[in-house]
Amino acid sequence: MNQSRWPQWLPLREDLQELVPYGAPQLPSLAQLNTNENPYPPSRELVQAIAKRVEEVAGSLNRYPDREAIDLRSALANFLNELSGLHLSAKQIWAANGSNEVIQSLFLAFGGRGALGFTPSYSMHPLIARVTGTSWINGERREDFTIDAIAASAQILSTRASLIFVTTPNNPTGTAISLTDLEIMAKAAGSVGGLLVVDEAYAEFSQEHSALDLLEKYPHLVVIRTMSKAFAFAGARVGYLAGDEEVVNAMQIVRLPYHLSALTQAVALVALEHRKELLSAVETLIASRQWVSRQLESLGVKVVPSSANFLLFTVPSSQEIWQSLLDQGVLVRDVGLSGYLRVTIGNEAENERFISALRNSLGGK
Ligand SMILES: *Cc1c(COP(=O)(O)O)cnc(C)c1O
Repeated sequence: MNQSRWPQWLPLREDLQELVPYGAPQLPSLAQLNTNENPYPPSRELVQAIAKRVEEVAGSLNRYPDREAIDLRSALANFLNELSGLHLSAKQIWAANGSNEVIQSLFLAFGGRGALGFTPSYSMHPLIARVTGTSWINGERREDFTIDAIAASAQILSTRASLIFVTTPNNPTGTAISLTDLEIMAKAAGSVGGLLVVDEAYAEFSQEHSALDLLEKYPHLVVIRTMSKAFAFAGARVGYLAGDEEVVNAMQIVRLPYHLSALTQAVALVALEHRKELLSAVETLIASRQWVSRQLESLGVKVVPSSANFLLFTVPSSQEIWQSLLDQGVLVRDVGLSGYLRVTIGNEAENERFISALRNSLGGK
């Protein structure tokens, strides 16, 4: 038996003893390209609008915030309706401190028969599963990281998981799944009484149709979105879910009371009012992704086709190249896939710095 690294007196739950905290390094660097943030900070005008709204809210911070976050959920519904032509209302939206909290609530409410995900994918799905006492099953992708919807459906039927996660575009590979394939999986999920969770953290960067288009037909399908990536608002911690009203009702059972602070709600509303500015860099980032991809290929590096704001690319040694890039001030992500690294698309100067640092690192081998 393994010796636990925890002190004997600490009554830590046994199933948590071998886990380590989520830990993307937060290191000082000239180009911070490891957590898929939007590199463009808010404008001065937006900063002032936020400061003004915070001042207004500050006067009533002796009171608890709106527990149901109705104004924010209505604004998020309107935002999604604008994008999709749907007619969602606040009752079909849940909002929380980042989509990670949404994911945690999903496990708490619906994790009973275990969760299935298709790896490699977002590492927090299995980690939050385990922390919430939900069993996690690793499903399979093809060699090229795409999902075979028929094989995936067979896995859904054989595991009978109550939660099935599909991340599209997928993190860390950037791979997107078509609506047709998602629908095949939604049918399989429905036939075993499972909930299909489509994590669309990077949807704004993708050409594929959003799973929002399937919401009306499949009440057991939910879509998760975040303000942390394309929306350029990671520091505020706001994520949300769109789904059937009954899913949202169940989320309310497991959420902590007053989970979204009055400041978060107010600031997120300002951000939605300025959505045009906040999303304005998406086209630039897509063009930069194409530029970085071509540069990587000219260095003889293989790049996985990406529909997100990052690229997964091949390297002779993940650890050595990661360190060598960091020594040159460029922080990328070692996602634990041997022979690969992931780089977030940054601003032009950061992208150029990354390419020239990588040229050095590869040349020196
Ligand atoms: C970044 C990310 C999230 C979550 O982010 P929050 O900041 O908690 O909203 C969720 N899913 C995927 C796949 C991500 O990459």
